[in-house]
Amino acid sequence: MASGADTRGRRALITGVTGQDGAYLSRLLLEKGYRVYGLVARRSSEGLWRLRELGVEPRVTLLTGDVTDISSLLRALEEAQPVEFYNFAAQSLVTKSWDLPAVTAQATGMSVVNALEAIRCTDPRIRFYQASSSEIFGLTGQPVLDESTAFHPRSPYGVAKAFGHWLTVNYRESHGMHASSGILFNHESPLRGIEFVTRKIALAVARIRRGRQQKLQLGNLDAKRDWGFAGDYVEAIWRMLQQDRADDYVIATGRAASVRDFCRLAFAHAGLDYERHVEVDESLLRPADINSVLGNAAKAKRVLGWSSATSLEMLVAMMVDADLARIDRGEIR
Ligand code: GDP
Repeated sequence: MASGADTRGRRALITGVTGQDGAYLSRLLLEKGYRVYGLVARRSSEGLWRLRELGVEPRVTLLTGDVTDISSLLRALEEAQPVEFYNFAAQSLVTKSWDLPAVTAQATGMSVVNALEAIRCTDPRIRFYQASSSEIFGLTGQPVLDESTAFHPRSPYGVAKAFGHWLTVNYRESHGMHASSGILFNHESPLRGIEFVTRKIALAVARIRRGRQQKLQLGNLDAKRDWGFAGDYVEAIWRMLQQDRADDYVIATGRAASVRDFCRLAFAHAGLDYERHVEVDESLLRPADINSVLGNAAKAKRVLGWSSATSLEMLVAMMVDADLARIDRGEIR
């Protein structure tokens, strides 16, 4: 299956379809002519805002199910008859994973067993994508991380994602399945949840600009992350499943910036000085944080022909502008 192949009418199943990556991937696959099926645990219309914002909600067929329930996955596979399966569903909040380690282990780790087993029992030729995360690296002591870097995850979330990663590798090696793991570094967008620091900052900047709030409380301002645009990253994900051989890829921009840098750029974009508004709240510091994360996506460039297209400055501007527009339209206060 080369990337130039005709994809019209091809069927894909996406778990976690209502999340940021699920929404961007749905749009990408629909543009390529796919029939897109999405697994949703709860059909609240509120939860569909991302699909709605990208204008794809009516064209995604929603199936009720949950990755922690293998029978619902089996039913979804029967209904969707996909050739590609993208596994995004997870408990995806690092901070919450310390409060809910067992839930995280189930929803982020064991769910990968369910997905791979459901595929193996239904049709092992279905191509599988596992959403791995740079959180699996954790405490590496190395400045730049790639596919060969050893893992030392720093949160129950990272531990569960490391399990999912190795299970994907194992099903490829044990059962010959086309199972790929994308080790995505932080990827953000206007569709990011407000629990993540980038969206928390973008929203606060917009609210401060419009006179709705004065201060922004944050935790560790010196933590550095390699932040890319989620809309670019789903293209890399799709390309992974178009390769003849399944494999693992780091997806990153190769540039690290601190939370403080992100603040500086975001406030400046709205004509504000971050130092007048940002306050450190010690209760937002984590039991164990990762100080610096920087990825090397050379393999993705070489094999997939992919590289990050959106600069940090463009990403910050896009996020702040989106929240200003939402406030001006009265969608958020
Ligand atoms: P993560 O890398 O997946 O954990 O993504 P986050 O956006 O949640 O956090 C990125 C970094 O921002 C971490 O090092 C956090 O410690 C740091 N950070 C600083 N203040 C905050 C905050 O108020 N909320 C969050 N979520 N992270 C913060």
